[in-house]
Amino acid sequence: MTFSVHGQAVSRGIAIGRAVLVASSRMDVAHYFITEDQVRSEIDRLRLARNAVVEEIGRVQQGLQGLPGKDAHHELTALLDVHLMLLQDEQLQSGVKQWITERHYNAEWALTSQLEVIARQFDEMEDPYLRERKADLEQVVERVLRQMRGVASPVAAPLPSQAGGLRVDWEEAEAPESQLVLIAHDLSPADMLQFKQSVFAGFVTDVGGKTSHTAIVARSMDIPAVVGARTASQLIQQDDWVIIDGDAGVLIVNPSPVLLTEYSYKQRQGEVERERLWRIKNTPAVTLDGERVELLANIEQPEDATPALAVGAVGVGLFRTEFLFMGRNGQLPDEEEQYHAYRRAVEGMHGLPVTIRTVDVGADKPLDHTRRDDHLNPALGLRAIRWSLSEPAMFLTQLRAALRAAGHGKVNLLIPMVAHLGEIRQVMQLLAQARQQLDDRAAVHGPVRLGAMIEVPASAMTVPMFLKYFDFLSIGTNDLIQYTLAIDRVDEAVSHLYDPLHPAVLKLVANTIAECRAQGKGVSVCGEMAGDPALTRLLLGLGLRSFSMHPSQILQVKQQILRADTRKLRAWAQAVVNSDEPALAMAD
Ligand code: PEP
Ligand code: MG
Repeated sequence: MTFSVHGQAVSRGIAIGRAVLVASSRMDVAHYFITEDQVRSEIDRLRLARNAVVEEIGRVQQGLQGLPGKDAHHELTALLDVHLMLLQDEQLQSGVKQWITERHYNAEWALTSQLEVIARQFDEMEDPYLRERKADLEQVVERVLRQMRGVASPVAAPLPSQAGGLRVDWEEAEAPESQLVLIAHDLSPADMLQFKQSVFAGFVTDVGGKTSHTAIVARSMDIPAVVGARTASQLIQQDDWVIIDGDAGVLIVNPSPVLLTEYSYKQRQGEVERERLWRIKNTPAVTLDGERVELLANIEQPEDATPALAVGAVGVGLFRTEFLFMGRNGQLPDEEEQYHAYRRAVEGMHGLPVTIRTVDVGADKPLDHTRRDDHLNPALGLRAIRWSLSEPAMFLTQLRAALRAAGHGKVNLLIPMVAHLGEIRQVMQLLAQARQQLDDRAAVHGPVRLGAMIEVPASAMTVPMFLKYFDFLSIGTNDLIQYTLAIDRVDEAVSHLYDPLHPAVLKLVANTIAECRAQGKGVSVCGEMAGDPALTRLLLGLGLRSFSMHPSQILQVKQQILRADTRKLRAWAQAVVNSDEPALAMAD
């Protein structure tokens, strides 16, 4: 039966593929394809792990028999019997084999895929006793997965850097006849980075808002995605056909042939449009009236410098360094590791400037997704510069690494979420200290331009104070909107109120740009507003000449710039900002 699910449009384009449901708790299971001649050994690997678990349970049961007070252990013995029974379950075994032989999934992926199928059936059972057996099944599968973890797949073990991740490896695998789309209740930003190396054609999550970091990474990958689709992961079944319409924020599940044809056509149209955009790749970003505009890239990893250069970015306006710090079980990167990462980005940009933003963890970017921030209001808590200043040794390490990278090319240093004069002074003092530490050990380092992110209304209202200390400002509209409108950017329940065109937001953005221009200081926008082609003319009209966005958005924005005449946009943009209904005023 065909049905649709609505969510938040995150990343443009259409993806059509089979659903791969991944429970968030099993996100750390490796996903890759095997080849036809590896099917046998993969099934054997699973069989061996299962037999080992059967033996393990047998040993526990025997141990229980020898213990005094046999009756006390009756319940545990019965439970282990249930586990043994589930391990022999025909549906589990045959289903897993099918995923391996027909879909060429690796054993762990096949096992968790079949777990999802059976878990659904348990959920639908009337009998509460039977329904509760789902937990037993999950425990049994966990035991088998644990066994397999000790026995790596001989056929396609994940690379160390990707171990346990979401990678889907096509190398040496036969091309499957259809693409795959990932459906999950939630994905952390760190999961998304793993996802970058996979070839899922699109993804859907139940939770999340448009500017959550999960959505931002999706946009950087330029694959169709929908977040905040609420019950999608419950409604969609493993292997269902799914169309993801990333422009409309809609999913169509088990589409009819007519719908499939229509969306396949739309998909091709989108591809043609993108190819057309490539033609302006080398065209300088200059408006009709000769205003030069700087188009910079937002990156998450040093390797992202390559796509940034490919689309003609003239520098990196935002390197979100926190992705180097995530998913490492508390083992933060040391100075050497950070220095090499920043240096790779600097060298990757071949002499163009790189803006290294100091670490911004907290809120929806926990260091480790198993350790979510359980403070009451994490977005208002110890995140970004607040966290850095509370961990001065960590912050000094990062500053030293960035200063050393500056010895290899142009580096700007950007401080996130700063709002208080006291924070500014501490940053200055720690930066001087980091330089001194490098001098003391005669380490080579270079000069940096220092910038602050304007992300908190308080900062947008005290721009002159910031300009006394900083060389440039960068407006982080994602957070500026969140904090101005009191809307958690991650919460899909209030995502309809997250409005870049709210008059208050526009006034703060316009004011920041105007004050910087008046003092001849550089100002950029690096939040998602910069990459939205529908807002390019407005930002140009407000005087913005530096935009930083994901490489995948640069050409669309450039197209708007090439068509714009800033002389005509100035008065119009002011009228939009002064309107009670800017969205309507923009249409005039
Ligand atoms: C922003 O807040 O606009 C921004 C660019 O920073 P981040 O999205 O990483 O919070
Ligand atoms: Mg921010």
